[in-house]
Amino acid sequence: MDGLQYELKRSSRRTMSVEVHPTGSIIVRCPLRMPLYEIERFLLMRETWIQERLLDSEAKRQLIPQRTHPHHIYHRGDVLSWGWQNADIIVPQRHSTHSAAQKYIERWQRAEAESLFEAMIHEHLPSIGVPGLRYQGLKLRKMKRRWGSCSSTGFITLNEHLIRVPDGCIRGVVVHELCHLVHLHHGAAFHHLVQDVYPDHRISDAILDAWTSVL
Ligand SMILES: [Zn+2]
Repeated sequence: MDGLQYELKRSSRRTMSVEVHPTGSIIVRCPLRMPLYEIERFLLMRETWIQERLLDSEAKRQLIPQRTHPHHIYHRGDVLSWGWQNADIIVPQRHSTHSAAQKYIERWQRAEAESLFEAMIHEHLPSIGVPGLRYQGLKLRKMKRRWGSCSSTGFITLNEHLIRVPDGCIRGVVVHELCHLVHLHHGAAFHHLVQDVYPDHRISDAILDAWTSVL
């Protein structure tokens, strides 16, 4: 395929695979000694599929506002600037180096995440009914590949980077995990409950999909 940029990862596997990431990067995995012409032939066979995925990821990225400065962060679906003056988020002067300021911003955003997520959880808990009483608490974690999870013991874990995406998308993830307090599976009963509690979840899930590139 002409001009297609991809990252090749050789390993002791037996088959080939290709992934198109939300960022538009292409990863090709193949056996250690597979010759280049075979790799190219494999990609040629999947050219249409790859081009479709690339267009799709490009369209999704256009939904997301762009950060154009190193002092920009994503926050609740917006781009905010930070600085020691004339910025959306003012960093106290005592955090005078770039790295100290970044740590300050990270702590600020984590605190924002915690209070917003808690508020949304308590807003929706009553609609979960009696199983909502199983809710034990919220844990925040930095995760690369997922937005949240729910344990059988009643703890909900949310990705602290979820604070970067629009509120509607955060709500979608919160409701999804809360509904796991009732059904620890993705069966029909689970989806009915999600639909009941948050009818807009299909739209917010589609938008969230576009935001996975900022994880
Ligand atoms: Zn789930």
